Amino acid sequence: MFNPADKIQDLQFFGEFGGVNPSISDSSTFTFLHSETMFNTFEGNTEGCYLYSRHSHPSGLYLSHALAVMEGTESATVTASGMGAITPVLLQLCQAGDEIVSSRTIYGGTYAFMKKFLPKLNIKTTFVDITKLDIVEATITDKTKVLYCETVSNPLLEVADIKALSAIAKKHNIKLVVDNTFSPLSVTPALLGADVVIHSLTKFINGSSDTVAGVICSSQEFINELKDVNIGACMLLGATIDSMRAASILKNLHTLHIRIKQHSYNAQYLAEKFEQDGLKVVYPGLKSHPSHNLYASMINKEYGFGGMFTLDAGSLEKATALMELMQERNIGYLAVSLGFYKTLFSAPGTSTSSEIPVEEQLEMGLTEGLIRFSIGLDNDIERTYQKIKVCINEILK
Ligand code: PLP
Repeated sequence: MFNPADKIQDLQFFGEFGGVNPSISDSSTFTFLHSETMFNTFEGNTEGCYLYSRHSHPSGLYLSHALAVMEGTESATVTASGMGAITPVLLQLCQAGDEIVSSRTIYGGTYAFMKKFLPKLNIKTTFVDITKLDIVEATITDKTKVLYCETVSNPLLEVADIKALSAIAKKHNIKLVVDNTFSPLSVTPALLGADVVIHSLTKFINGSSDTVAGVICSSQEFINELKDVNIGACMLLGATIDSMRAASILKNLHTLHIRIKQHSYNAQYLAEKFEQDGLKVVYPGLKSHPSHNLYASMINKEYGFGGMFTLDAGSLEKATALMELMQERNIGYLAVSLGFYKTLFSAPGTSTSSEIPVEEQLEMGLTEGLIRFSIGLDNDIERTYQKIKVCINEILK
């Protein structure tokens, strides 16, 4: 059985002086003993030589290697943000005239890039309900190059059937690109057939809300292409992660399995309680979730159903009042983003998904009173539940 956390644990990196952490590379450029080696490195013919830190640097490579191991892919490359991972992948896979078929419930920034930015390059995206496999397949044309989804979508928590989507992608000879930001360790999309797996490391993987970063996990061939000095979108667009940040994320990665179990435990606990209380809560770990069984069949069980759920407060006014009260009572922070040790909550319709026009939000079920919760690592979750319940009773009743 593939266990991503065991794979990470089996890594053994030594620092330059025998340190228990790899040394941080503090150089933007690297020397060569012979100019011929420099030329060969530019041509991509020299293994193990560093050229210039926008291309790669040791600290970035350590983190990339660990994430490739975690995602079960041949290779990976880390980037300066999640969007710095998503945008080069799409630009590498698509030329002018090509098309993308994408889930309609995705992170607002990704949606905006596809909907507003890519048309400038004559790349068209058709947005579909990713849970309707017949519609997904019918939307693919001979110009389609990419099928794009999030394992668990932001913010509606729809679950993509990665195995089935991969079969469709293979049949039509297109690439399945999966954003796995909401479900690290729980789901390993490459093992289910994804060609490219992306994370915003900003979220659960780093876990301390102190940096933005991203990663692309894929075949060695595709990662090499992204880093190619002549045609590589990562190399040429330049969203390179800083060495210091790469080193700090690698250290946090080693506690990810403990954190994900606690995030999942706490979210499952609260979602069940809220559902029992008659509230409108959506969480893949609830039997009432339309894709509960599918998700249960996809996850590495011990990491659970993840730390994210939504609760519909009924109106934007109530959602706002509830979030402000929860922050006042120190239950968490009214903030976008996710995967922090403290609970974070926001109303996606007016924040992280505000790029999506209101009519489209309503069509996909993104109501204005929807609150997205990223549940923290609280030690006593019953205590937290009691505190939230008091707030809910004050605002919603
Ligand atoms: N993918 C998902 C699912 C996200 O939620 C986000 C950010 O919220 C991103 C990608 C973009 O990541 P970043 O903010 O690190 O660029």
